[in-house]
Amino acid sequence: MTAIELVVRPSGNRVSAEEREKLLASPGFGRVFTDHMVTIWWDTDRGWHDGQLIPYGPISLDPATAGLHYSQQVFEGLKAYRQVDGSIVVFRPRSNAARFNRSLARMVMPAFPETWFVRAIDTLVATDSEWVPDTYGYSLYLRPFIIATEKALAGGKPSSSYLFTLIASPAGSYFSGDHQSVSAWLEPEYSRAAPGGTGEAKTAGNYSGALIGQIRALEHGCDQVVWLDACEHRNVEEMGVMNLFFVYGTGTGARLATPSLSGTLLPGVTRESLLALARDLGIPAEERRISVDEWRAGCESGRISEVFACGTAAVVTAVGSVQSSADRWTVGDGTPGPVTTRLRDQLTGIQYGRLPDRHGWIHRITDRRPLPLGKDTASGFTGR
Ligand SMILES: *Cc1c(COP(=O)(O)O)cnc(C)c1O
Repeated sequence: MTAIELVVRPSGNRVSAEEREKLLASPGFGRVFTDHMVTIWWDTDRGWHDGQLIPYGPISLDPATAGLHYSQQVFEGLKAYRQVDGSIVVFRPRSNAARFNRSLARMVMPAFPETWFVRAIDTLVATDSEWVPDTYGYSLYLRPFIIATEKALAGGKPSSSYLFTLIASPAGSYFSGDHQSVSAWLEPEYSRAAPGGTGEAKTAGNYSGALIGQIRALEHGCDQVVWLDACEHRNVEEMGVMNLFFVYGTGTGARLATPSLSGTLLPGVTRESLLALARDLGIPAEERRISVDEWRAGCESGRISEVFACGTAAVVTAVGSVQSSADRWTVGDGTPGPVTTRLRDQLTGIQYGRLPDRHGWIHRITDRRPLPLGKDTASGFTGR
């Protein structure tokens, strides 16, 4: 594979400063996009090639494009933050790049070099830096994704070409309204992921398959669906697109537990970061199986004091109440507890530069000039 340049074609039609400020005042989530995007193409002969930073806009695809039919697709989600000193950082981009490649391997797609992943982000964020909000709690959500682009309706084989795209969207709060905590619906019938399936990969089909659970949660008056294991519908896996944590005990006796990565859970970067932060704070944390029965009994006895969900988009969100097809219970007093709040403050403290970054999680956007993509030896078809 030869070196590939990220050619920069700046937009001649940027959003005005005045309009941008208006949009940044309350961006919502995933509705507003910046002026540019990055695209890089892949085919069997050339590998990754034709990398460009171009004006944000529609992509033209043949109606027979494989990715539109069979969901051979992989995506990531991470954020750029404006820190208290005005500088811009991205949280753990290499962790997302590594997971991107694990998802790509599962979906039999070509590997995407980590250095390019980071370089694409550096270039887009530097170019559209004015879109990174300066409000605490706000951020610029980054969405890299790859879709299969071969014009071929014959399913049952991987595409021979792909398109990488990176877009960016200023983000306020993930949940509309001022949620103190959310209510959870334990889905008794449908499953998000089964052993040997694609639950561990960040791939589009998982999300369309999970929509029905979210709809059923809303029908039962709950905010979010909690997915149970597909075999017995007994063990807790995830809530919506977030990982779950359980707090046992209180004060200096508090301990954490989170469902172990059984192969059907998405291994969250936030989950991993909170496990590390808990260790820093001297809060014992374990990864293990947690059943619905344990959840209910723990809340009834008071042994479980708090439950929260976490993810890049929603950060840390308390779970205040739970409903199953059989019964309903409250977690603690139904409001975010002290461990939930402390862990959220630690995490956002590092992201916004209020606390020191002891783990080297912060990636600084230093060079404001768009850079060419460097030489990389990875090439060809590396999916399994
Ligand atoms: C992305 C995602 C998460 C959270 O992962 P983070 O890396 O923490 O953002 C959890 N569950 C699902 C299903 C996801 O798609």
